[in-house]
Amino acid sequence: MMQEFTGLAFAGGGLLRVADRRADQAGLQALAALGRVLPVWRGKPLFRNGQGLGFVSADSPVLAQGAGLVFLGLDPDLPAEKAAVFACDISDWSPEAGAEGIEQGFLDPQIQAHPALPDDQGFADLRNALQTLDPLESEIAATAKALVHWHRSHRFCATCGAESVPSMGGWQRTCAACGAQHFPRTDPVVIMLVVKDDHLLLGRSPGWPEGMYSCLAGFMEPGETVETAVRREVAEETGVQTGRVRVLASQPWPFPASLMLGCLAEATSDKITIDPVEIEDAIWLDRASLVQVMDGRHPRINAPRRGAIAQSLMEYWLADRLE
Ligand SMILES: [Zn+2]
Repeated sequence: MMQEFTGLAFAGGGLLRVADRRADQAGLQALAALGRVLPVWRGKPLFRNGQGLGFVSADSPVLAQGAGLVFLGLDPDLPAEKAAVFACDISDWSPEAGAEGIEQGFLDPQIQAHPALPDDQGFADLRNALQTLDPLESEIAATAKALVHWHRSHRFCATCGAESVPSMGGWQRTCAACGAQHFPRTDPVVIMLVVKDDHLLLGRSPGWPEGMYSCLAGFMEPGETVETAVRREVAEETGVQTGRVRVLASQPWPFPASLMLGCLAEATSDKITIDPVEIEDAIWLDRASLVQVMDGRHPRINAPRRGAIAQSLMEYWLADRLE
């Protein structure tokens, strides 16, 4: 039985996905006329004032160079005829010279303004907003970013190589040449609290902000269970052996298309031998040190960002709240 952690970004915003409406093209057009569109530019959703998403109408000039609309679903708090939420990839638009910036590094601080939008709106890295969006907007942003990225990176049919076209409101791509249907990808990642004798195993990857340590994590491989993926990743990265593994909670993580599976793993050994290709350092932290880290008082180590599942796992462990 998984736990629903409170405070996780992107998780459980209540968007009504109404998959049964996706095949009705005329119906979706009617919904778009009264609904809202979230433009996404090179992986960055539109924000207003850095607080909350910036939506435009389907006839906005901002969407002039956009790809087709992707139907995300219905806002449960609005009357049905106005409730539709769409996303639109406008990555082909180029801001003024010098203001370009692509998703790179750990966090992109740049905000791109658009001449057709008010000054307080701009395209920004979603990682900056883990704490500022309400749950529904957080789910909308994650879904939009993941779907838009999938369309951009899967334009051609994986079966025959011909260019495919979006269908089902953007939840499929169909190949006219061979008839194959393609579906959006979600890549499972295991992320784990590794515990032994009231100590927690944390690591840091090259390129992370200075001093930041977090739970170990890694992509699952075909043919693996969650449990075997956890044991393999922990052993590969740190040499530590683990026994019992439990899945605790999950979180969509659209950077670009992951699903984080938060786990608790009981270590059966404690000697650390890091794989320097995968991680830069790994350490065992006791409870008192972790309290300092989470409070921002540790001299050397910084906690992961609020809203990320690693931060919640560590906080729940400290509070003895893991079921
Ligand atoms: Zn094909």
